[in-house]
Amino acid sequence: MKNIVILGASGSIGLQTLDVITRHPDKFRCVGLSVKSRVDAISDFLNSNSGLVVCVEKSSDAKNYSIAFTQHRFVWGEDGLIEVATLKEADTVVNALVGFVGCKPTLAAIEAKKDIALANKETLVAAGKIVMAAVKRNGVSLMPIDSEHSAIVQCLSTHNKSIKRLILTASGGSFRDKKRSELNGVTLSDALNHPNWSMGAKITIDSATMMNKGLEVIEARWLFDMPFDQIDVIMHRQSIVHSMVEFEDRAVIAQLGTPDMRIPIQYALSHPNRLALDLPSLDLVKAQSLTFEPVDFERFPLLKCAYLAGKREDNRAAALNGANEEAVSAFLRGKIAFVDIDTFVAEAFESMSYSELNTLEDAIAADQMGRAWIKKKILGGNV
Ligand code: NAD
Ligand code: MG
Repeated sequence: MKNIVILGASGSIGLQTLDVITRHPDKFRCVGLSVKSRVDAISDFLNSNSGLVVCVEKSSDAKNYSIAFTQHRFVWGEDGLIEVATLKEADTVVNALVGFVGCKPTLAAIEAKKDIALANKETLVAAGKIVMAAVKRNGVSLMPIDSEHSAIVQCLSTHNKSIKRLILTASGGSFRDKKRSELNGVTLSDALNHPNWSMGAKITIDSATMMNKGLEVIEARWLFDMPFDQIDVIMHRQSIVHSMVEFEDRAVIAQLGTPDMRIPIQYALSHPNRLALDLPSLDLVKAQSLTFEPVDFERFPLLKCAYLAGKREDNRAAALNGANEEAVSAFLRGKIAFVDIDTFVAEAFESMSYSELNTLEDAIAADQMGRAWIKKKILGGNV
């Protein structure tokens, strides 16, 4: 029996993790979770279980929910998040939070010797050096919950040497068939309409700008200790080949599957074993064709920025990530247009000054620098 904590249980990955756990009551038990404010999203789960530690954002919510769900213990705020992430009885922490806010609880869980199943890619982008050093020092495992990186783990599961390159596939997101000049006036609901995946809002927007693929390139660098010139991206519209590894002998191993995140979520929890998962089988005859195209770095400038940022290994990836989080948040709140996201973030990336990144405080400062640049740009028009 594996005892599991889910941070961000009310989100897209969090709810699918609860689904996976519920399918295997003999293997997995949820002992704690966090939801920010949407307790309603997990009320069925709370009603049919007891003894959980549940973190919410506000102390007033924690008090009210303690009355409604007397069989659970409610904690709140950042301290509550750390408490849940380091619960004594937990073996594995699934981090399904969105954004850099997931970094501190991840590090706290690692220091408490918990294994990590990480969906929260922003943590590795902003602080990969610190997180991977902590993983090594504490002897814990860190498994990705990202379809591409899970695919690579699976491709490397029988042989993980003599790697020539990693090939990450990219769907291209909501606007893959639009030129840059056709993006003026696209709406929030157009941007949230991903062709293959149903996901949280932030990652869906990141997919449309392809910043998501940029974040994933940096994530791959840290997870697989691979230089950036050995990490390639290709467009694959169908999201069936989740990623590939080319070896020195030019053999290529790929992992395929229907686009359903429960597959990588379950694999992150069951690794190195595989458990049954009652989903429809992949029907390649029905899919008919799998297509592959080069990515256009001019059309998707944030992918280029991510490569440049990652390669330097200083604080620029954290700053770029912070700027992007702020710009996406502004777009989601209707403050800027879709085309402003990559225009502003690329401008921020070129304009900021950078320094070394050695500590969590360095990452926090860089994140704040990126956010401040975008906030000022939105308020003042120029920086
Ligand atoms: P989501 O928006 O659906 O859920 C995010 C969760 O984080 C929610 O539970 C929310 O309450 C919580 N949260 C957000 N801000 C918080 C804060 N300040 N304090 C505490 N809790 C907070 O997002 P998602 O799509 O589930 O994505 C989660 C992570 O997984 C992201 O890093 C994303 O890039 C990654 N990911 C998602 C998918 C997917 O299919 N959804 C696939 C691959 C990777
Ligand atoms: Mg992905």
